[in-house]
Order: sequence, then structure tokens, then C-alpha cells
Amino acid sequence: VSEFELIKRFFADRAAHLSGLKHVKLGIGDDCALLAPNTAELAISTDMLVAGRHFFADVDPGSLGHKALAVNLSDLAAMGAQPLGFTLALALPKVDTAWLAAFSDGMFGVAEHHQCPLIGGDTTSGPLTISITVFGAVAPDEALRRDRARVGDDVWVSGTLGAAALAVAVRKRGGTPTAHCARRLDWPEARVQLGIRLRGIARAALDVSDGLVGDLQHVCERSGLAMNLFWPMLPLDPELNVLLEPARQRYALGGGDDYELAFTAPKTARSQIAELANSLELALTRVGECIPARTDATNAIAVLDEHGLAVQFERGGFDHFAD
Ligand code: ADP
Ligand code: MG
Repeated sequence: VSEFELIKRFFADRAAHLSGLKHVKLGIGDDCALLAPNTAELAISTDMLVAGRHFFADVDPGSLGHKALAVNLSDLAAMGAQPLGFTLALALPKVDTAWLAAFSDGMFGVAEHHQCPLIGGDTTSGPLTISITVFGAVAPDEALRRDRARVGDDVWVSGTLGAAALAVAVRKRGGTPTAHCARRLDWPEARVQLGIRLRGIARAALDVSDGLVGDLQHVCERSGLAMNLFWPMLPLDPELNVLLEPARQRYALGGGDDYELAFTAPKTARSQIAELANSLELALTRVGECIPARTDATNAIAVLDEHGLAVQFERGGFDHFAD
């Protein structure tokens, strides 16, 4: 299979039916794609996945294709952006048609679900690496930025926390995670509709990719404030109930890969957010509050138990250069 045939068979042909969307003036096949969004602000994000670093080389290629696009769409969701399209840069050690078919099935499943067309890319031989760039649209000044939280805002999180981290821990010990935990880790759902519907309601938002506390720390830094989170209110995944402390706390507070959205919103938005949760059939849980900055800005997040006492837990999310 030549490079040209590979691109055509596994990517260009399959991208064709979504490239009819009216904002796609030109998709795959020319030197550049042409997008014509009817909006003043473009949201752009890139994520790179490297075999042996972000996933095992023998991972199910269907889940890899799904996750590679889903984690990028999660970044668009976290800005409240509507997906417009994505590009795919792929380095492959060899041409394995069964692998490519499964990979593109997983990827196009997500692309079709979110009406996000593949509009271009690059293909080369090399150590297995997948780099996706997504493009999204937001109305002027409506993006959900990290630097917009205010003292007095509630802190919210979607879905449940910790199941993906539990799956990672089980696999690291050579075990097999439950189907539920494996699905949370390998087939994450980007909260795209939630992000879009939070425009005009949420002030600051991000996606929980590296762990709730580590990620919210970024909101604190960018917004110049601190947060109290209430441990009894956190929506732990029910499967964490089999664990003891401190493992339960570690997975819920520091576990990455959940791809839920965490956001802040004024207290006046509580009923609107409850209605949104109903209409999306997605749990939205109030888990804390924004307070004035502490003297120690590197520990902006405190987690409090039911008596208002600080819960001790391991800080820091996943850092690729630290482990
Ligand atoms: P160029 O030499 O201009 O970079 P290529 O031969 O690399 O062109 O690619 C030809 C066309 O196929 C371009 O439109 C490019 O965007 C697209 N393309 C290449 N690889 C991929 C891929 N993995 N997924 C989607 N489109 C791709
Ligand atoms: Mg090229």
C-alpha cells in the first residue's frame, strides 16, 4: 500500500461525507484545507500521543483512534467551542491495514458523533505517533477561559471522578479493570454539548485531564484566587467505593483521564445549571467555592471534610517529565 493509497483508503475517502458541511470550503486533497466559519473567534488545540509514553504500542487501535480525537474535542468542549474540523499527523512504523482500519473506525466514530470533519493531515513512517489539531468556533468573548473565575463563584464538575485512574492502576499491577473503568479510560466522551451550553452561564472552565486538583490549580493561578473543595460533595465514581483511603482520595482528586469539565459559575446560576444537567442527562455537581487568594499560591486548593478540616492528599497531577 503506497502512502497515497493509505491516505485515500483509511482517511480521505472516509472524511468525504462530513466535508460537505457548509463551513468546509475545501477538505483533504489540496495544499491546505479552507474553513469558512461564520464566527469571529477560532478555538485551536493540539494534542500529541506517543507510543510507549501515552499508550502501549499494543493498545486496541479502535480505542486509540477514538481517544486521540476525543481528548482534543475535550479541549474544545472546555472552551465552549463548536467543533469545525481537525487535522491528523500520523507517524507509522509500518503499514498494517487491519490496524489502520480499526484506528480509523474509532476515530471516525467520534468525528461523526460530533460532526467534526477530518480536513487534512500528514503521513510519514516513524515511531508510532498521533498528533491531532482541532479547530472550533466560539462567538466573540464567549469562550470559557481559565482566567475568568471570580471570588464567590461555585465550583462544579460534570460526571464522575476516578474510574479512569483506577483502570490505570489496575493495569499497572497486571490486572484487568472492570468493563466500566476500562470504558472510562479507553473510550472517553468529550463533553462538547455541555461546553457549548455553558456559554453565558459558566465563568471559567477546563477539562479534567490530569486530575481535578491539579487542573483546578491552573484556574486559581490564571484567575488569581483560591478554592475550597468539599470532599463529601465530590461525585466519586461508584467503583471507587471498593477502595480505602488514601487510594480513593488519590484517584478522585489526582487521577487523570476522566475528561469531565470543571467550571466555575456565579451562585445565581445554580438553578440554570440544575436544568442543564436534566436536559443533558449528565450529572453536574457543585463541589466547592472560589475564595480570595491564599498566601501560598502553589497550594491554592484546599479539600475540606464534613467538619471543615483539611483533608491531606498527594498533590500534583500527571507530569510527563517528572516520573
Ligand atoms: P503535501 O505534500 O502538500 O503536504 P501530502 O501528500 O502530505 O501533501 O498530503 C496530500 C493531502 O492529503 C493533503 O491535503 C493532506 O492534508 C492530506 N493528508 C495527508 N495525510 C493525511 C492524514 N493522515 N489524514 C488526513 N489527511 C491527510
Ligand atoms: Mg505532507
